[in-house]
Amino acid sequence: MKLKIALGFALCAVAITAHAEKIALVGATAINPADGKVMPNATVVINGDKIEHVSMGKQDAAALGKQIDCAGKFILPGYIDTHVHFFQSGDLFTRPDGADLNSVRPYKDEVAWIKSHLDDTFARYIRCGITSVVDVGGPFWNFEVRKRANATAKAPRVAVAGPLISSVSREKLDLGDPPIVKIDTAEQAREFVRKLTEQKPDVVKIWYIVDKDHAVESFRPIVRATIEESHAHNIRVAVHATELETARAAVEEGADVLVHSVIDKPVDEAFVKLLKDRHVILCPTLVVFERYGRVFSHQLNLTREEQAWGNPEVIATLDVTKIPQDKLPQRIKDALAKPEEALDRIKKTYDIALPNLKKLDDAGVTIAAGTDAGNVGTIHGPALFREFQLMKQAGLTPMQILQCATVNAAKLFGGETGARVGKIDNGCFADLVILTSNPLDDIKNASEIHTVVKNGVVYPASQLIPAPH
Ligand SMILES: [Zn+2]
Repeated sequence: MKLKIALGFALCAVAITAHAEKIALVGATAINPADGKVMPNATVVINGDKIEHVSMGKQDAAALGKQIDCAGKFILPGYIDTHVHFFQSGDLFTRPDGADLNSVRPYKDEVAWIKSHLDDTFARYIRCGITSVVDVGGPFWNFEVRKRANATAKAPRVAVAGPLISSVSREKLDLGDPPIVKIDTAEQAREFVRKLTEQKPDVVKIWYIVDKDHAVESFRPIVRATIEESHAHNIRVAVHATELETARAAVEEGADVLVHSVIDKPVDEAFVKLLKDRHVILCPTLVVFERYGRVFSHQLNLTREEQAWGNPEVIATLDVTKIPQDKLPQRIKDALAKPEEALDRIKKTYDIALPNLKKLDDAGVTIAAGTDAGNVGTIHGPALFREFQLMKQAGLTPMQILQCATVNAAKLFGGETGARVGKIDNGCFADLVILTSNPLDDIKNASEIHTVVKNGVVYPASQLIPAPH
């Protein structure tokens, strides 16, 4: 009897161990941007979906479980892209409000393609070592995307906002569940936020568009009401505000996140202090500022990562010269006629945005990496590596860039999940990227991906998506 009990206990212990799938990554250099520590010859023990233990040197073999030799490699927390839109594919037809090509490809067909390719999009994120993303706004079906990602192994963790609360309308995107909703009064704003809360958004998004017909002050009461109502429900608010005075107004009203750079003028000391005092997170999305202009003027500069890991169908659409001349919208015709003007506008944007990023990061403002992937020419997944290049061009060090893409980005992700990603630490989710060369030598090495670990499951990177033709 005694023996039987002992045996029963032993079998049970074996079963638990087997289920937990203990794995040890042995011998790599572990880089933890959260504290800036670099640990050579590290042992990272994964137990189930969590990091159980991180230490220097080889450990007692019996305690390690299955060992994977990682000598000569570099382990980082999985990257996080804090600004994507799953309702957009990145192809030429995905924003008919910007360039209407319905006569070439109806927008409803575009949306149907997007919905039927979500798993492919998810896998491309994992291929790029991006194990979490924040979808900063889309139709109500965005909440279904979050659910689907959470139920899919080869998918990033997804935080979402619902439809954007906007100062302007975008009828061409409205197929019955619009991604952008024009709100005219404070009461409408509160009502819409209450409707959103039923879906438990991770963040509420405001589209604070200012132009000659929409002044900063006229939409400000709606910004205020949206933020008050969201905060009353413990939900953070992210604001699209690309001019200095719009961004300042948004933060003064209580915005938690600014989702783009300030691109109209250099940020001033008061603005820097405001962001620091209010603990605002800023996501620069540098890459998106070049992509519309470059696609429309036929000057696209996709990186080798984008060409290799972006969806080939999406990339194939981006050659505007394949569209019959009589079907080209005026905006694209104009850009094609004067490509140098498009490139000049991009240069002018970066001449302001890049120094602004450097100034804010140096001052200690929390910067989270993000791309705005899904917009025309900004490729889901690998666009993050172009963002890294631009952050480098702004003067950020590799460690600063990695901090933006891990620990800082996790703060933007937020919630219980945000607290357990973006770090190599005991108890964190085992979301890791294993590189063949050192990203601290040059940030371009951040895309030399050998293996990706998501939720404790190890994937050889080259097997995650089909090879490009
Ligand atoms: Zn966006």
